[in-house]
Amino acid sequence: MENEAIVNLRKILQHTRRGVFFGGAGVSTESGIPDFRSEDGLYRQKYKYPPERILSHSFFEGHTEEFYAFYRDKMLCLDAQPNAAHKKLAQWEREGRLAAVVTQNIDGLHQKAGSRVVYELHGSIWRNFCTKCGMAYPVQRIAKGSGVPHCPCGGVIKPDVVLYEEPLDERVLSGAVEAIRAADTLIIGGTSLNVYPAAGLIDFFRGDNLVVINKGAPAKDMRGVFFIDGKIGEVFAQV
Ligand code: NAD
Repeated sequence: MENEAIVNLRKILQHTRRGVFFGGAGVSTESGIPDFRSEDGLYRQKYKYPPERILSHSFFEGHTEEFYAFYRDKMLCLDAQPNAAHKKLAQWEREGRLAAVVTQNIDGLHQKAGSRVVYELHGSIWRNFCTKCGMAYPVQRIAKGSGVPHCPCGGVIKPDVVLYEEPLDERVLSGAVEAIRAADTLIIGGTSLNVYPAAGLIDFFRGDNLVVINKGAPAKDMRGVFFIDGKIGEVFAQV
């Protein structure tokens, strides 16, 4: 479909020089990674505890084994490959249109696609640290084992992902805010905009073109916003 929205988006991109993309789990569903709030998202699946409880700091501390069972099963998608959305964003960066990707995702697919400036607001499954001595571990250390992974020092190894109840990394946060503040175009995609403080960052945008691409409207008021209701990979593949 070569519709008006695609033509308009293409025009915006042609004039964009400091674009920022702000995305969430919906960017990776076309790579086979489930999001939280879609029909087949993790919130609709049945677990003993709701996903946001399992992915919280207190749950990690109190039920570490159960945390890891869920985490290995649902969050470690190591074989997933970038889709058309990740690839297009990396291309726009190379072409000098996009200054940064700000993502709530933890899957590392933007970097896999070739993006270099990526602010990972919620960290990454690819980095892991001992909570006692700080030793770094590759993700395979988590993926291959079972039960709770331990460092030889006796400390528990924890993924470098921001769990619920944990603060965002200050440097990542300020880098993301600066990029959004300086952007001429902000494209928001594949996010329900339900998770704070991440979702609040889009309020720093002062540029000319705000575009939202999502399957269904996000939680924020979209009146007056250039909103494309669709799959982000399919939309970006046409731009
Ligand atoms: P969310 O699940 O709350 O919302 C995803 C949104 O994307 C929904 O509105 C959905 O309709 C839309 N969507 C789904 N597939 C789409 C597609 N192909 N094209 C366009 N839109 C699509 O996700 P969120 O807003 O990112 O917030 C939840 C939290 O989920 C984040 O903090 C993130 O850390 C975490 N998360 C990350 C991953 C990942 O790293 N891939 C996966 C699951 C959850």
